[in-house]
Amino acid sequence: KKAKKISSALEDAKLIGVTVDKNKDFPGWYQQILTKGEMLDYYNVSGCYILRPGSYTIWEQIQSWFDAEIKKDNVRNAYFPMFVSSSVLNKEKDHVEGFAPEVAWVTRAGSSDLDEPIAIRPTSETVMYPYFAKWIRSHRDLPLKLNQWNSVVRWEFKHPQPFLRTREFLWQEGHTAHLTAQEAEDEVLRILDLYEKIFNDLLALPIVKGKKTEKEKFAGGFYTTTCEGYIPTTGRGIQCATSHNLGQNFSKMFNISVENPAGSDKPKLFVHQTSWGISTRVIGVMVMVHSDNKGLVIPPRVAQFQTVIIPVGLTTKTSKDVEEKVFDTCKKLEARLKSDGIRVATDYEQYYSPGWKFAQWELKGVPVRLEVGPKDVANESVLAVRRDTGAKSSIKLAEIDKKLPELFDEIHNSLYKKAKDTFDAHRVVVHTWKEFVHNLNQKNIVVAPWCGRMECEEDIKKESATTDSGEEFVVDEKAPSMGAKSLCIPFKQPKLEAGEKCVKCGQPAVNFTMFGRSY
Ligand code: AMP
Repeated sequence: KKAKKISSALEDAKLIGVTVDKNKDFPGWYQQILTKGEMLDYYNVSGCYILRPGSYTIWEQIQSWFDAEIKKDNVRNAYFPMFVSSSVLNKEKDHVEGFAPEVAWVTRAGSSDLDEPIAIRPTSETVMYPYFAKWIRSHRDLPLKLNQWNSVVRWEFKHPQPFLRTREFLWQEGHTAHLTAQEAEDEVLRILDLYEKIFNDLLALPIVKGKKTEKEKFAGGFYTTTCEGYIPTTGRGIQCATSHNLGQNFSKMFNISVENPAGSDKPKLFVHQTSWGISTRVIGVMVMVHSDNKGLVIPPRVAQFQTVIIPVGLTTKTSKDVEEKVFDTCKKLEARLKSDGIRVATDYEQYYSPGWKFAQWELKGVPVRLEVGPKDVANESVLAVRRDTGAKSSIKLAEIDKKLPELFDEIHNSLYKKAKDTFDAHRVVVHTWKEFVHNLNQKNIVVAPWCGRMECEEDIKKESATTDSGEEFVVDEKAPSMGAKSLCIPFKQPKLEAGEKCVKCGQPAVNFTMFGRSY
């Protein structure tokens, strides 16, 4: 009877496990690992998803680290309403033009139409800046640095994707006002460096920092800096976080000014502003880069559970005494790791076989499995098994408080290194148009000498939507053919030789720009 139960549990495990190959059906794989790994669920409003604890905890880790960092920089948290009147939203022309197609409107309450429709914030510049104008009176009120942890709504019509492109998403949006242009510039880069740390040190993701082109910059801003990521399986780039220098564009529209410290007879000074945001999109990037055909692989510093304790090696022949010792060791280990501040899951359920349990926790991406069996108890050790590589090592119980965090760091570093080596190998410097398209078709990102003209960027997009032989390049059945966008002008530039020509139009190149098919 017991054997029958176990074999039916194994059948269940097969169904519960991932049934699609990451390299064969990437969208199907992504959907399965997210739902079966209990990260996210689908919802009956298109483009909206439910974040289950498995993903929300990751967001909380990002939140608590970043929140502490910006507080050191004297940024204060505040909350503004999610609704914007249309007169305020329309104040900055370029800004509203950029966002208008995606703004959702409330037009009705109960059964009566509103006199004037009210917008739901796609971002909060226009919500907050009338109050910046009210609160900033003199240079002594500067700098003003506010941040919100909130959600925004962008009714995008591009194909929605869990985390990457959703109609409502969680983010933080920071907004600062400064007396001088230099201070604003410093703030933009200080925040970009913090974002880089989130990617490298928490999510184990490599990114490239740079500046957006005029075409891709934030609507209404002066310039945009960005962290750009890469999804190896599809060869596509993805914008991971942005930090904008708004210059004085918004302060002039919203009249955010202070008396000139040089004297009241001097003209008033408009403040220099920044805004910056990172969203739940980064969770999707992390999943796509690290996870595999067994399910999620979550870097230890953000994982909901960093380790799971599983009793093993108990059979019908095991004596009661030994069984008790195994469970007792598990429970003591659990309490001890929890008091070390390690996020621990346990699986003491006796109905399921250890093999079935291993598969379950692998699906959820728990970085380290700790197996405790009669032999381990006798040796005063546990067997640690890495989720990312499957490597096993025995750890003495007396050393676990030190060795387990070391193992987490090792896992983090090797996930990062693997992802970085891949990104580096797939970021190719090219000089000719033929190489440009060929490399895109090899799932690479290209870095090419470029003229910096917007019309040329549009030509690049149109003409890079082909295969090497000039036919239409089709991403998958759902998505139309896809050309390359500029991702950023990397801060770290290859050397531009004198007389270097634009990769597309042959005019003089002004810099190297990174292009790729992108999300
Ligand atoms: P933006 O205000 O457009 O610069 O966006 C700030 C950050 O939010 C970007 O770096 C994106 O990573 C992210 N983001 C933009 N649109 C979406 C979306 N529809 N879903 C999730 N994240 C988004």
